Amino acid sequence: HDIATLKRVKNHAGVNGVKNIIAVSSGKGGVGKSSTAVNLALALIAEGARVGILDADIYGPSVPNMLGTEDQRPTSPDGTHMAPIMAHGLATNSIGYLVTDDNAMVWRGPMASKALMQLLNETLWPELDYLILDMPPGTGDIQLTLAQNVPVTGALVVTTPQDIALIDARKGIVMFEKVHVPVLGVVENMSMHICSNCGHHEAIFGSGGAQQLVERYNTRLLSQLPLHITLREDLDSGVPTVVRRPESDFTALYRQLAGAV
Ligand code: ADP
Ligand code: MG
Repeated sequence: HDIATLKRVKNHAGVNGVKNIIAVSSGKGGVGKSSTAVNLALALIAEGARVGILDADIYGPSVPNMLGTEDQRPTSPDGTHMAPIMAHGLATNSIGYLVTDDNAMVWRGPMASKALMQLLNETLWPELDYLILDMPPGTGDIQLTLAQNVPVTGALVVTTPQDIALIDARKGIVMFEKVHVPVLGVVENMSMHICSNCGHHEAIFGSGGAQQLVERYNTRLLSQLPLHITLREDLDSGVPTVVRRPESDFTALYRQLAGAV
């Protein structure tokens, strides 16, 4: 027990100046964790908070591309720690800055988990109100390592309205309950497709499922975000919508989510 405690204290030392750690997770890949994590982080900045984002998706880092920093490499002022890479006011770190070939894709779980703990503990995070963790999909090694070694304040579960995404979102909620990480609520992404030409709304992934999910698990539906080409294009350009279009309805939704968090 003492060794475990010591290990925890040691592990936590690197995130001392961080007040809240928020995990943005999902059971499934491709539902919009990274999009939500990045825009939420930027919305928290717009609300006046000091924010960082750690790309915890070791096998599929997307944060550098979404922030337009994919060509940058962290420097080490003291030879052992990394200075975070700054983008749009956000302090960031990602395996994507360090490993630029495809070798990370074949790491076994323990190595991936170790890399994540190093990114967390060996980055010189400034004083932060929120450190957002952009999680990999699923409920495996990395999620468990995090839950056991990192004082996660709360988790958001991102899902689309599709049944197969909701089934996996449910598993995510159950996992966090098991490891005693509070679930702050569910974000329904791609809730409604809005046609950029005609403005027509279409529930192409279905509707109502996320509401049922939060009722069943006694949590909250924090946001319903539309599927819109602008959101995707802005992320691909490296300037997310919250920064590129601060006055847009999309940004208002992310700021509402930031308020709820
Ligand atoms: P995840 O992190 O869950 O794997 P991403 O955030 O990378 O998912 O999203 C997958 C792709 O879908 C990305 O190309 C992203 O730009 C796009 N995307 C995500 N959410 C939306 C949305 N609401 N509207 C349009 N495109 C979106
Ligand atoms: Mg992702």
